Amino acid sequence: MSLIADLWKLQETDVALDAFRASLEDAESRLGETEDLLSLRARAAESDAAVARARSEQRDIDREAEDVRAKIAPAEQKLYGGSLRQPKELADLQADIDQMKRQLAAIEDRDLEALSAVERAESEAVVVASERDAADAAFSDDQTGLRGRIAQLRTEIADAEDERREQAERIPAEELKRYARLRAAHNGRALARLDRTLCTGCRIGLPLNLVTRARSGSTLVQCPNCERILVT
Ligand SMILES: [Zn+2]
Repeated sequence: MSLIADLWKLQETDVALDAFRASLEDAESRLGETEDLLSLRARAAESDAAVARARSEQRDIDREAEDVRAKIAPAEQKLYGGSLRQPKELADLQADIDQMKRQLAAIEDRDLEALSAVERAESEAVVVASERDAADAAFSDDQTGLRGRIAQLRTEIADAEDERREQAERIPAEELKRYARLRAAHNGRALARLDRTLCTGCRIGLPLNLVTRARSGSTLVQCPNCERILVT
């Protein structure tokens, strides 16, 4: 194989390696939890905490109601038990009982509100938890896919590096140096194909004598404008 063909093969391998390495970097950067997932998990935890808070508030109100009921029952037994004879005593006790019942009714109203607050918190928590579960499942699939892709890219890179080593061994050191310099200076491409008389690297038309020399393949000819090595 001619030097120019060897260089072209080397560039194909290098371009492929560049693409593999960029894909690997991209895949590796996408490993791990995203901000969105983390904030969804935090929201789900907050919703669960809100449910626990609402339930505990409602239980406190329940206990408050129980305490008042526990006072009303013996007072009513006393009122109807016949132990009190004085109308004043009876009227006072009745007034106490009425007062406690009003208090109980107010507590029961608060209890209803607390119950519906529990229900609201619970349904909010169900929605957020299902969003989180869906995101977690998608994340887990995504990560599995990414890990497979990363393993595959590493194999492809190792293979391409082996190939590159063999290809580079066939090229004289001096030419390899020139190739590396041109590649670094020209966006990874040290060589450009000729399209009739046009350098496809910089889209400039070249003089015929230069094109003829490039076509002969006996020497390396560089584009006078972009300095890439011309390939026919
Ligand atoms: Zn050019």
